[in-house]
Amino acid sequence: MKKTTIVAIDGPAGAGKSTVAKTLARKLGFLHIDTGAMYRAVTLAALRQKADLKNDGELEKIARGSKIELKPGEPENKVYLNGEDVSRDIRTPEVTQASAHIASSVPVRKILVSRQQQMGRVDSSPYGGAVLEGRDIGTDVFPDAQYKFYLDASVETRAQRRLRDLEKAGVATTLEKVMEDVKARDERDIHRAVGGLRKTPESIVLDHSHLSVEESAGELYQFIQQHPR
Ligand code: C5P
Repeated sequence: MKKTTIVAIDGPAGAGKSTVAKTLARKLGFLHIDTGAMYRAVTLAALRQKADLKNDGELEKIARGSKIELKPGEPENKVYLNGEDVSRDIRTPEVTQASAHIASSVPVRKILVSRQQQMGRVDSSPYGGAVLEGRDIGTDVFPDAQYKFYLDASVETRAQRRLRDLEKAGVATTLEKVMEDVKARDERDIHRAVGGLRKTPESIVLDHSHLSVEESAGELYQFIQQHPR
């Protein structure tokens, strides 16, 4: 049987991974798995249950008890937590902030990584393969992925994008403040003891700050077409 084709897209927050991964998956006819949304869903569950975010035992139980489903949708994909549509609730600044605790919990990562592997291998079977985006896809989730992209963008570009999103959501802030937040998230993502953001020797590193989502996804698509694996 032919191995599922896996496309890994890793990179820092705000580099445009989600929209590029979604567009690329559509072009390829692949399943799109936003792994950040899964960490966010567990974070939301933990906040709702008023869990101690530093207690791995509590977090593990919550992760185990959280049924997370990712469903394709337009313009945004849908995220369900135990059957409830939480697509909006997982994007609040509170969840973003608290997600750092959940992302550094080793037992939670174990559970989510294993689900992501299962989703990539099994759930992608009616599709041609899967596009997974996150921080540790090429290193931990699918170290044997046929394609590994590392999508980067400058702190300024990422902060500008984030600022636009926050303004749209009605959150008042400044570019300076957002830049500080972006830098702090990078620090946490890179220095996390497990599942930290890293390039692999095979990663194709791209900075698409100057490209639109369509152009960026188009480049990845072209690369895949030209390099059958
Ligand atoms: O990418 P996004 O901002 O949605 O990620 C939400 C949280 O999950 C962040 O704290 C990020 O560091 C974490 N994350 C992770 N591993 C992944 C994807 C996201 O630790 N594969």
